[in-house]
Amino acid sequence: MSIFERYGCKQVINASGKMTALGASAVHKDVAAAVAEAAMDYVDISELMVQAGKVIAEVTGAEDGCPTTGAAGGIAISVAAVIAGTSLSLIERIPLTDGLRNEIIIQKGHSVHFGASIPQMIAIGGGKVVEVGQANHVEKDHIAEAVTDKTAALLYVKSHHAVQKGMQSIETMAAIAKDKGIPLIVDAAAEEDFRKYVAMGVEIVVYSGGKALEGPTSGFICGRADLMVACRAQYKGVGRPMKIGKEGIIGLLTALRRYDNRPDESQQQRERMEWLIAELKDVPGVKGAITQDEAGRAIYRAQLTIDAKAAGKTAYELIKELESGSPAVYTRNHYSNLGIISVDPRPLLEGQERVIAQRIKEILQA
Ligand SMILES: *Cc1c(COP(=O)(O)O)cnc(C)c1O
Repeated sequence: MSIFERYGCKQVINASGKMTALGASAVHKDVAAAVAEAAMDYVDISELMVQAGKVIAEVTGAEDGCPTTGAAGGIAISVAAVIAGTSLSLIERIPLTDGLRNEIIIQKGHSVHFGASIPQMIAIGGGKVVEVGQANHVEKDHIAEAVTDKTAALLYVKSHHAVQKGMQSIETMAAIAKDKGIPLIVDAAAEEDFRKYVAMGVEIVVYSGGKALEGPTSGFICGRADLMVACRAQYKGVGRPMKIGKEGIIGLLTALRRYDNRPDESQQQRERMEWLIAELKDVPGVKGAITQDEAGRAIYRAQLTIDAKAAGKTAYELIKELESGSPAVYTRNHYSNLGIISVDPRPLLEGQERVIAQRIKEILQA
């Protein structure tokens, strides 16, 4: 029985991806062991925060860093930091920032929902959101002309959730920010490259610890030293209700230290997906193929095309039955309207491809 079943939750097989709603990542055993060790001991938290900044700096190439509960907390804390700095009275005023330099400029196509609302995260940090341009069209002048003496920062959202066409690039926003003497914040929550935006000169970059890093529920901010000191200072204010504890920080740092030397499991994952496809080849109405990740990453998913007539069920019906079964199997369903469901091998625990094959057979041959 899994630990979650002991608390009355159904067992979940995640074949979907790094889904926050399913618990984001299952951590490596070394990370889990470090979390447990930290949880059973004491530390001077402010000292741990400073040391954590050094590890984040090492792994990202930034001057310094700040651990957070996640990328969402990272956005709120970054915004608070650019508004309040290290002034205690301002830190304690956040999110009430009337009269302060509090405007955060964001392209309209970046004002999105990632599971929660980007503008809301900015508002929690005390930012007044200034959306510029249109949802599918933003010009450089829209951004540059919106900068006033009330502007605290620009914010760019690097994500598949954001509108991809018609937006201005990070380079353009960085150039505007530099020209105007204000910082640029990049929300790079799910990005895999922890050095890229820092190397581009971005002052504040926000990452999730539970996505590409495959760490525990956590996140981090990296960037310019004075701004990272200001980020850590927000834990005396708005950061407190989004506090990352000692065990979360140690789990994050352990995952960060492992990151550059993590083993490449893509070939093994591909073989597991090939096994799954072979296993389903005689199931009527199911056609399997290996497809590489749309963004070109070394992720090889099993794509199952469901012919509703031959299978007796639509892809949509299959998805619903997989999700409502025991264990509940969550597949990747971006193309379910085309009759396609995908199995992502990355989050699968050992042997779970066998359970998935079994469940699909049971449902379609019932
Ligand atoms: C997932 C995500 C977040 C939130 O990350 P958490 O670590 O879950 O807080 C923020 N922004 C974007 C673009 C995301 O994809």
